[in-house]
Amino acid sequence: MKVIQHSAETLQTALVSSRQDLVKLYSKYTKVERQLLEEGFHPGQPGSLFQPITVHSDSDWIPAHPEEPQDFESFYRDPYRKTPSASHNTIYIQTIGSFGEAGARTDQYVEWLRDYCQAFFHGLSVKLMPAVTVAETGCSFRVNSHSYNLQILTGDLLRFLGSRKPKDAFCIVGITMIDLYPKESWNFVFGQASLSMGMGVFSFARYDDNFYSRTYAGRLKKRLLPKQGDYSVFDGYYTPPITSTLLLRSCKTMTHEIGHMFGVKHCQWLNCVMQGSNHLEESDRRPLDFCPICLRKLQVAIGFKIAERYQALLHWIEEDQSQTSRPEEASACQSVLHYQKPTEAFHTSALWLRKCLDILEKG
Ligand SMILES: [Zn+2]
Ligand SMILES: [Zn+2]
Repeated sequence: MKVIQHSAETLQTALVSSRQDLVKLYSKYTKVERQLLEEGFHPGQPGSLFQPITVHSDSDWIPAHPEEPQDFESFYRDPYRKTPSASHNTIYIQTIGSFGEAGARTDQYVEWLRDYCQAFFHGLSVKLMPAVTVAETGCSFRVNSHSYNLQILTGDLLRFLGSRKPKDAFCIVGITMIDLYPKESWNFVFGQASLSMGMGVFSFARYDDNFYSRTYAGRLKKRLLPKQGDYSVFDGYYTPPITSTLLLRSCKTMTHEIGHMFGVKHCQWLNCVMQGSNHLEESDRRPLDFCPICLRKLQVAIGFKIAERYQALLHWIEEDQSQTSRPEEASACQSVLHYQKPTEAFHTSALWLRKCLDILEKG
């Protein structure tokens, strides 16, 4: 395992920049906001809010995909980065196919994701498009010849999203529990995006704990050669059970991918949700939130107050927990198909958010 330890000076330049106007812009943050951001200069020390990146093997993202690191200054002057405007300030989420075993479950799961994104991209509005079935997208699909699970073609889905993108969209993201492939010769892909068009599509299928096992329930039992255009194979097709871990992984993927829509590139500074990830173990290692350098990029693009954003995220984690303390109410809710949000896997993040707020609320 290798620790990527940058010096405090390097991290300071990456965050603040040496350009006069950007230093001035930085000085507009309040004292406590700067104190929080500057916690990132000394990662990994006892009690530190931020950690250095660790590379565990050559199959990790950084050794496998050498990229130019993007500091705040290079983000700021990138002519292709995208900033929401008054007329383009909504993130749209389009679900494709079902999530969980029943319709009500799909709606509830996607509502949680929507609410999470709205807290994460604090200040923007996040809306759900009416869910569509795989058939409604008219996409091509196949049975993977090694793993025997169903897969749908990303290019077709992007075309479908493009035709439905509302006028006020900052971006539109398609999400599905069905595995994806970008072209015949590829085994699979987690997702695909077109930054210039503000569109992306991502699958959570491989976030099922069982995906890589031979007993995976999404493996078709018999050899099947489905006819293109006959979508009946998707009727009742397996989707992963909704667990806290699946929700955590989905939230990370969505916010990482939407982060790219702003022009934020892979983080090479600190442990951060914007780190690239090559495999599930690596994406599980990523924290749920941004490091200070990526946070400044997002803050400049959206203009939120840092404390308000952290409060919204903490509220999202904790809001349903307050309901468990009133069992009579919880059971009444169940009868109208209200599912308890499974936030156990967010426990560490909640503690972290509280530590950040302790600093910010001192002011
Ligand atoms: Zn990425
Ligand atoms: Zn970062």
